[in-house]
Amino acid sequence: MVKPKKHLGQHFLKDQNIARNIVDALSVDNEQRKILEIGPGTGVLTHFLEEKYAENLVLIDIDTESIAYLKKNFPDLNNKILEGDFLKMDLNHALGGEYAIIGNFPYNISSQIFFKILEEKDQVIEVVCMLQKEVAKRLVSPPGNKDYGILSVLLQAYYDMEYLFTVDASVFDPPPKVQSGVIKLRRNGLKKLNCDEVLFKQVVKQGFQNRRKTLRNALKPLNLAEEVREQDILNRRAETLSVNEFVKLTNDIASGGNTKV
Ligand code: SAH
Repeated sequence: MVKPKKHLGQHFLKDQNIARNIVDALSVDNEQRKILEIGPGTGVLTHFLEEKYAENLVLIDIDTESIAYLKKNFPDLNNKILEGDFLKMDLNHALGGEYAIIGNFPYNISSQIFFKILEEKDQVIEVVCMLQKEVAKRLVSPPGNKDYGILSVLLQAYYDMEYLFTVDASVFDPPPKVQSGVIKLRRNGLKKLNCDEVLFKQVVKQGFQNRRKTLRNALKPLNLAEEVREQDILNRRAETLSVNEFVKLTNDIASGGNTKV
């Protein structure tokens, strides 16, 4: 057995039915499609993934002990089992082309995992993952409430998102202090947002920097042109803007306020 290590966010899922449901939530049906599992640990998901996807599977875990356990228990996957840090992984090299990601994520780095996924969004066509329930709810949250944040906007700009189900802490060894939630992301049809995507990210991040402020105040560091500052939308808070409103605001800012419709 592998001794669970807290600093690696190791909570091993014990419930086989839940594991199967998570794996079944992947809608990948193309036989050529690669699947990356982040943090397989002792392989509770891997077992069901191997049945379905066999050699298209790639696994990465940072824990040497888990890697040894996996290599012993999944001999057919041996050269697909990588030891390393997902956050530093060269995804193109390991996978190439389009692929799906699945995993019961280490909760302490789930936001960083999503920022990395966003960098690779044209390759990552689908994600099914378990994370802390509160975070899961935040990511899928619509605008207009306090759960909606930077990653909600950035992810929802490129992915159709769905909250699938809640998982109780009692089915893990050791049980985490929080409830867990499983979500699914599918890449939407947009190749590119209808605005400067670098500026979009900057506007979203800056807008939420102090989420209780109006956008007029929150976006001060961006030195907006006066015509932009006068617009009504700047009386609102970032958490009330839809993705499309952020896109429009980005265009307004880029053109110094001359894109009024
Ligand atoms: N999938 C297993 C384990 C989930 S616990 C299960 O459901 O039971 C999270 C797993 O992520 C652990 O195995 C841990 O070693 C691994 N992990 C933690 N940080 C990681 C990182 N930066 N890169 C890759 N794996 C990581």
